[in-house]
Amino acid sequence: MQTALILFWARLGSLNALETVQRDGAWKRWLGREAGSVDTLGRVYATLSREELRAGLHHVYVRLKRNKALPALRGWGIAILDGHESHATYGRHCSGCLRRTVHLESGDRVQFYHRQVTLMLVSGSLRLLLDLEPQRPGEDEVATALRLLRRVLGAYPRAFQVVLADGLYAQAPFLNFLLAHGKHAVVVLKDERRDLYQDACGLFRLMTPQNGRYRSRHCLWWDVSGLTSWPQVTEPVRVVRSQETDPVRRAESGETTTQTREWIWVTTLPSAVVPTASVVHWGHARWDIENYGFNELVHGWHADHIYKHDPNAVESFLLTVFLAYNLFHAWLTRNLQPSVQRGRTQVFWARLMAAEIYGAVAVAIRSP
Ligand SMILES: [Zn+2]
Repeated sequence: MQTALILFWARLGSLNALETVQRDGAWKRWLGREAGSVDTLGRVYATLSREELRAGLHHVYVRLKRNKALPALRGWGIAILDGHESHATYGRHCSGCLRRTVHLESGDRVQFYHRQVTLMLVSGSLRLLLDLEPQRPGEDEVATALRLLRRVLGAYPRAFQVVLADGLYAQAPFLNFLLAHGKHAVVVLKDERRDLYQDACGLFRLMTPQNGRYRSRHCLWWDVSGLTSWPQVTEPVRVVRSQETDPVRRAESGETTTQTREWIWVTTLPSAVVPTASVVHWGHARWDIENYGFNELVHGWHADHIYKHDPNAVESFLLTVFLAYNLFHAWLTRNLQPSVQRGRTQVFWARLMAAEIYGAVAVAIRSP
C-alpha cells in the first residue's frame, strides 16, 4: 500500500512509470525495505483487504476530528454523494464490469465500464473522500448509494447530518432512508417530479420572494415547507428556488449586461432550524464533488487509469488514491503555515512532493 501511495503522490499514472522510479533501492529510506515489483503490486491489489484500506481512511478522519480540524458548515456536517464512471473499454473486461451497447457507424458494440458512487465530506476548504461503492450489473445508482450510505453511517455515525445530491437522487427511497437514520437531504428538483414541482411553482407565484446573495450574485429566494404532494416520502418536504443574477462583461463590446439563472432544490431540512441561505449555499456546494473530487482525481491523480483490470484491484486502487488525496489535502489546508503557502498553488505542492520522490531516485542512481 505504501508503494501505491507513492505511485499517487508522485503522480506517476501507470505501473510502468512506477517501475522506472522504484528501482535501484531508491525508496529504501521510506519503506525500510526494497520496493516489490510492479507485477507483485498488481497481484497484491487484486487480493488486498478493502476493509483495511477503509480503516486507513477512517483513521485519518478520526485524527482530524480529534484535532478539531473538521469544523461544521453553518452549524451542520455536510456530505456529498455522486456517481462517477471510472473508465470504459471495448476490450478487456472483468466480473465487475458493467456493460452497454453503443451504436457506432460500423455497427453495435458492447462497451464495458466501471462506475462507483462516492461520498465526500466537506469542511470548509478541506474535503475528504470518505468511501466509495462499486455499482453492480443491473443495479441503479440509488441502490448502490444506499449500500454505501449503510456502511458509511455505521463507520461515521456523526460525521454529517446533511447529504447533497443531484436530481437523480430525487427518489423517495433515498429521502426515506436518510430520514429513518436521522439525516437530511438537499437534492436538485427537476420537473420530472411533476406533482411536487408544479405545486411548489404554483405556491411560488403567490409569494413575495426574499432578497438574498450567493457569491457575487443578487438572488431572489422562494421557500415553501410542508408540501405533501410527494406522498411516497414519509414526511412533508420543503422546496427552495433561487433566481440568481450576475453581471457579465461582453468581450466584444466591453459592455456589462446581466445573466439570470435559476435553481430549485427539494429538502427535508426544517425551515425553523435551517434558513433559506444555507439551503441555497449547500445546493450549490453539491458541485464540489465534481470540481474538487472527480475532476482532480482524474486530471491530477490519474485515478481513472486501470492499474490492474480486476474488480478488487479497481476498488482498492481507488480507495488508495482517496487516502493519498485526503492526506495531501489535510496537510495542505491544516498543516502548512499560511506564510509558507502564500501565493503557491496546489499544483506547486503536488510537484514539490513528486520532486522529492524523484530526488530519491536521483540519489540512488548516482550512488548505487
Ligand atoms: Zn472490469
